[in-house]
Amino acid sequence: MATIERRQFDTLIIGAGGGGLRASLKLAEADLSVAVVSKVFPTRSHTVAAQGGMNAALANVQPDNWHWHMFDTVKGSDYLGDQDAIEYMCRAAPKAVYELEHFGVPFSRLDNGKIYQRAFGGQSQNFGGDQASRTCAAADRTGHAILHSLYQQNIRAKTHFFDEYFAVDLMTDEDGHVLGAVIFNIQDGQIIVIEAKTTLLATGGAGQLYKTTTNALINTGDGMGMAMRAGIPLQDMEFFQFHPTGIAGRGMLITEGARGEGGYLVNADGERLMERYAPKAKDLASRDVVSRAIAIEIREGRGCGPNKDYVLLKLDHLGEEVIQKRLPGIRQTCITFLGIDPAEQAIPVYPTAHYTMGGIPTNRFGQVVVPVKDTPEEPVAGLYAAGECACVSVHGGNRLGGNSLLDILVFGRAAANHIIDYLKENKYHRAMNEDAVSTIVEKIRSYDQPKSNGESVAELRKTLKQVMEEHCSVFRNKEVLQQGVDKVEQLAQRMKNISINDSSHTFNTAKVEAFELENLMAVALATIHSAYAREESRGAHSRTDFTERDDKSWMRHSLYSFENGLDYKPVRTKPMSVESFPPKPRVY
Ligand SMILES: Cc1cc2nc3c(=O)[nH]c(=O)nc-3n(C[C@H](O)[C@H](O)[C@H](O)COP(=O)(O)OP(=O)(O)OC[C@H]3O[C@@H](n4cnc5c(N)ncnc54)[C@H](O)[C@@H]3O)c2cc1C
Repeated sequence: MATIERRQFDTLIIGAGGGGLRASLKLAEADLSVAVVSKVFPTRSHTVAAQGGMNAALANVQPDNWHWHMFDTVKGSDYLGDQDAIEYMCRAAPKAVYELEHFGVPFSRLDNGKIYQRAFGGQSQNFGGDQASRTCAAADRTGHAILHSLYQQNIRAKTHFFDEYFAVDLMTDEDGHVLGAVIFNIQDGQIIVIEAKTTLLATGGAGQLYKTTTNALINTGDGMGMAMRAGIPLQDMEFFQFHPTGIAGRGMLITEGARGEGGYLVNADGERLMERYAPKAKDLASRDVVSRAIAIEIREGRGCGPNKDYVLLKLDHLGEEVIQKRLPGIRQTCITFLGIDPAEQAIPVYPTAHYTMGGIPTNRFGQVVVPVKDTPEEPVAGLYAAGECACVSVHGGNRLGGNSLLDILVFGRAAANHIIDYLKENKYHRAMNEDAVSTIVEKIRSYDQPKSNGESVAELRKTLKQVMEEHCSVFRNKEVLQQGVDKVEQLAQRMKNISINDSSHTFNTAKVEAFELENLMAVALATIHSAYAREESRGAHSRTDFTERDDKSWMRHSLYSFENGLDYKPVRTKPMSVESFPPKPRVY
């Protein structure tokens, strides 16, 4: 094979969002050689877009503790979350926030100087009747503040960055050890083989599966696709979160923090609709509950506007000062994209694809785990995953707002800690699997010859997003899902015959999009098959033909792989140190 550059690192991290950068910082500080590969400049990763904040029971506003946070998270997950991982995350949360503060994150402040915390969806109301305020925020630009601080700390710690490189596939050997990945430079097409003793996938979510989404164009589920091609199943993919308040028809996010600050939803009759669906928590019920309420209002003819296809989010009563101080970013978004000022006018909103609850199965140490014979969770040697691409699973059937920034930081750090220990025992690089390298290199080079008359990548991607929106959205049933399965399977077949007509090596974004589509297609197959099979309603998976949660048959995680189709494994209901929270009806 023509000479291809090879580089060796202790750890390869694919993804420079909050999950990847928290892990790389820890590893670089431990004097390990760590490479971070990102297809965009690190501070453009989707973490930068996070608005509302990050949960931690700091009790800065009213009494709170990690155990209540744990309860809210288990309940929010509709009892599908693994309680050991949830306990670990909620206990680690205050430390994670203070660490960020020391890295330089400029959190908003209360008058007494402590970190500002706002109310968010799904937080208990047990504390003297008040809604808990557990979400630590830097105005409505929390992710921006976190990602920039982490990047700066990584520069200081001398993390090695491969900016604007695209990772294509993982290399594994015959024993199933992961040996690193093959990447190429988007700028000039140069291929590099990165050999690593440990690899961490931190590639973020797959919101580009849907037509209307809050997610960046880069969120195409690449790590999930890579894992599937390496024989690893994806877990709980039927649980996709729709955020209740995307700007109607466009998808940009209006943070839950807007309702946390006192905003509320109204229908065409001017009625405060959430009072009927969640009498206690109202607009701060869990996201799945609020999204379904909006969809029902519109279906029953109480939508606003000429086509009755959205509801309104009212903020004007909060006053200009609060809006400018706490929600400046969303005010700007509304002015730019809608031409309205939320300090004066209500915002048209509709549920929008937002967050991938499922992903690459891991344990709470960040190790990727797969079923082997009778054992449901055996680690894959050398492979870790953290952040939105992983399913650890702390979010189960429905994620609480503010728990993802927490998840990426806590489990990014936990994965790094485990890697540090693993490397003490595994000091040497394993022999490279040259066949695996050639296969991936050939796959990349197959785009070097211009080819026409094949399927268009842009067309397939557009159709896939439309199909997912129509067949796997807020409400689902057997018939609609069956049609969805058929359509996605057909698209996956057509995918085999794609062609791109740009064979250049300079910023060949057509090639990047072709690889992204391959990943999106894998994620779509896992999502639609898992959704079709799950005959119950739980969290974000709401079936009109099976309206109840069925703990007897379905309190289990789904696993979908190319090789075996669907499989299941039990939920880890036993926490680390406290008593388990048994399933109860979920009311807000
Ligand atoms: C608009 C918006 C607002 C949000 N607000 C909040 C909030 O207020 N609170 C909260 O808790 N959560 C929020 N979330 C969710 C949260 O921000 C994300 O879940 C989280 O930031 C994901 O972080 P990550 O590190 O897993 O991945 P990301 O930040 O998405 O980063 C993924 C990285 O992987 C890289 N990558 C991907 N594929 C490849 C490839 N093939 N090759 C090389 N590199 C690759 C990308 O370049 C990027 O660096 C929000 C999400 C959105 C979309």
